[in-house]
Amino acid sequence: MKTIKVSVVTPDGPVYESDVEMVSTKAQSGELGILPGHIPMVAPLQIGAVRLKNGGKTDFVAVSGGFLEVRPEQVTILAQSAEQADEIDVERAVRAKQRAEQRLNDQKRENIDFRRAELALQRAINRIEVSERKF
Ligand code: ATP
Repeated sequence: MKTIKVSVVTPDGPVYESDVEMVSTKAQSGELGILPGHIPMVAPLQIGAVRLKNGGKTDFVAVSGGFLEVRPEQVTILAQSAEQADEIDVERAVRAKQRAEQRLNDQKRENIDFRRAELALQRAINRIEVSERKF
């Protein structure tokens, strides 16, 4: 099988690097699957899971938005934060989820803090799901 090099990079440094047969993730425009030989492109990502398939194995990385860039020999995902499934602290994510839910209950819907809490909630739920590899 052909493979393509994938790097997931954050402001704190690289989080994942491997040669894979397929990358799938959620772009703002919907589900995106990238195989080797894909045309060059840049796409903004949603908070979601990146699935990296190679042989019989699939790695999962939680990403909090950012961009995916496809070049002829390489896919780069630039995210504000990203964690490999095994590195996620589930208790921390559960606490973040509870804090966000509390804030959503306290805030008015049109408030800026409401939007921030919604995003914090999405990040927390995404981390919990990726740590359980549930999609
Ligand atoms: P929290 O409120 O728990 O900090 P957050 O969603 O506000 O969550 P971010 O701002 O997205 O956190 O991330 C800050 C840093 O902490 C990043 O380096 C991110 O990878 C890391 N991080 C956040 N939550 C977790 C987690 N549950 N497990 C491991 N690393 C995490």
